[in-house]
Amino acid sequence: MSALPLLMDALGAGSVRVVDLTQTLTEDFPTIVLPPEFAQSATVRIERLSRYDAAGPAWYWNNLSFGEHTGTHFDAPAHWFTGRDRPLGTVDTMPAADMIAPACVIDCTEGTAVDDDYLLTREAVETWEMEHGPVPARSWVLMRTGWSRRQGAAYANLREDGAHTPGPDAEVMEWLVHDRGILGFGTETIGTDAGQGSHFSPPFPAHHFLHGAGRYGLQCLTALDQLPPTGAVLVTAPLKVHEGSGSPLRVLALVPGAAAG
Ligand code: MN
Repeated sequence: MSALPLLMDALGAGSVRVVDLTQTLTEDFPTIVLPPEFAQSATVRIERLSRYDAAGPAWYWNNLSFGEHTGTHFDAPAHWFTGRDRPLGTVDTMPAADMIAPACVIDCTEGTAVDDDYLLTREAVETWEMEHGPVPARSWVLMRTGWSRRQGAAYANLREDGAHTPGPDAEVMEWLVHDRGILGFGTETIGTDAGQGSHFSPPFPAHHFLHGAGRYGLQCLTALDQLPPTGAVLVTAPLKVHEGSGSPLRVLALVPGAAAG
């Protein structure tokens, strides 16, 4: 028997629920800021064409423009130089089957409550594994930090020496990618890497190891506190942009509901 009728029954009965992990795309949602010598991403623009008015009496529509890496968004392997030669490394060519995968959620909120530069370590993931079992191959690892509740300047948290936001250290990223074989890594912050990740070895280790191995990134996630540590399934389908390095997307999680017990 196909599993799909069972899934539809479970969604109808509430024993599987859909949780939206996406931030609303707005013109004032913070966009990553690079050092001034580099090209900068455009911010989001939503330009009204008509709304049941003289410009279009019966219809409402907008023009949208944004950088590929704005809002809740997906990073494809081609985003980073280490993934530049990966086959199927852009959003239009990546396998559709990679857009549905289970998630492990690591609660880092105790650490991030006292340290903006909190780093997820291999030791912390191994402690998590003692309770929840090994991180499965081809799964997402999501770093729950509570960062999505921050607003305005506190979200990017820029100081004179750059951004101060939590992320993974280099050792844990190499280990998750090459030992655990994860499909991707997701964060509530603007990047998959820590704000100070340019000083790590290698620089920006999440980008370096994930994309070099053909794996993916998710950023600006929200509502991770509504996910169980294991058992959720993510649906992550980026826009099919020709040779795109990433895109804003809707991230949905299927989670066991109360009726599942
Ligand atoms: Mn990105």
